Amino acid sequence: MNLDAASIREDFPVLDRRVNGHPLTYLDNAATTHTPAQVYDVFEEFYTRYNANVHRGIHELSHEASLAYEEAHDRVAAFLGAEGREEIVFTKNTTESINLVAYGLGRRLDAGDEIVTTEMDHHASLVTWQQIAKRSGATVRHVPVTSDGHLDMEVAHDLVTDDTAVLSVPHVSNVLGTVNPVEDLVDLAHDHDAYAVVDGAQSAPTRPVDVGAMDADFFAFSGHKLAGPTGIGGLYGKREILEDLDPFLFGGEMIRNVTLRNSTWNELPWKFEAGTPPIAEGIALGAAVDYLDDLGMENVRAHENDLAQYLLRELEARDFVETYGPGVGEERTGLVSFNVEGVHGHDLSSLLNDRGIAIRAGDHCTQPLHDRLEIPGSARASVYVYNTRTDVDRLLEVVDAARDDLDDYIASERYHDLIS
Ligand code: PMP
Repeated sequence: MNLDAASIREDFPVLDRRVNGHPLTYLDNAATTHTPAQVYDVFEEFYTRYNANVHRGIHELSHEASLAYEEAHDRVAAFLGAEGREEIVFTKNTTESINLVAYGLGRRLDAGDEIVTTEMDHHASLVTWQQIAKRSGATVRHVPVTSDGHLDMEVAHDLVTDDTAVLSVPHVSNVLGTVNPVEDLVDLAHDHDAYAVVDGAQSAPTRPVDVGAMDADFFAFSGHKLAGPTGIGGLYGKREILEDLDPFLFGGEMIRNVTLRNSTWNELPWKFEAGTPPIAEGIALGAAVDYLDDLGMENVRAHENDLAQYLLRELEARDFVETYGPGVGEERTGLVSFNVEGVHGHDLSSLLNDRGIAIRAGDHCTQPLHDRLEIPGSARASVYVYNTRTDVDRLLEVVDAARDDLDDYIASERYHDLIS
């Protein structure tokens, strides 16, 4: 079923805004998506009806808040195909989720152990495992990226060995849009008794995810990229592994018994949620996954694919534009990174902003990937459920104008004087 973007847009009043005199064209969804009324209404309801701390209280408001917060874990579990709330830890974001895993597993690593990540990892994963390796003496190895933007699976098979303790991969690259063969990678890790950690920041918002079928040991994601609020994300972990993993943060709520000398931990998932959690944000995350469930994740995937293929086809047709990642017709998500010859990504982004169009330019927290591509940065346009071909056409108009402006400038006397 096709998504009806026009009616979806009614749920997102921010899209009616004008920016610099133009209607807002929001194409920065891989960084953060907008939040529908069904999600932000949760905040008003929470703070006007049942704002209270969770878990500890006997009073009515605390009871209601606890129920709603705990049920939000159930909804996220169902959304990702987890067995139940015990397998879903609420965190701040993907970054915190990966840190939680890395600190827990990192305590078990020694010199001689290997951690395998990829050249396309986000800094959230790359930097974290780098630090864990430095502390534990383990070595990090990286699966290379091929020139057409895929993981080199042949090298991956050589890199993952019985010395590998952890394989940590992005499900979807936030620059290339590549959808990695994550089931194969998880199998590869398990064949060598290594843990498989999947960074799902760009996949959970954009396609159906079934962590059970994927068989990943851990899967990290952020709420603000899937129509939820900022300040909340999550970590799926297999129950038996989470049972065994040391907590990352300590304090109230995560304990069962405390003496002056010792403490024992609460049941899952609360063992990993120390202190007062972001309660309204957590409940709103539950509303966000409900919203996406109602749209249907298969429909979300198809809608993104349609727009991304259109954008990619149009960009590839322009000989002054270079695009990165899988080409037209190949599987990818709704983000396209590119460069316009002679125009710095920040200048393009600024020209677009003058016309109310939001994209992102820079290294997108993937400096090693940009080094691999031998470019200092890229511009990235990314769509979501409320975007239409009109949004893409507006972007293309400015890309063409940017190139024309540059040509005019190069032909101008000012430029001539400058270079002569
Ligand atoms: N991994 C990937 C693939 C991402 O795209 C992002 C966000 N750009 C992150 C991790 C980090 O997400 P957050 O900033 O929400 O922790």
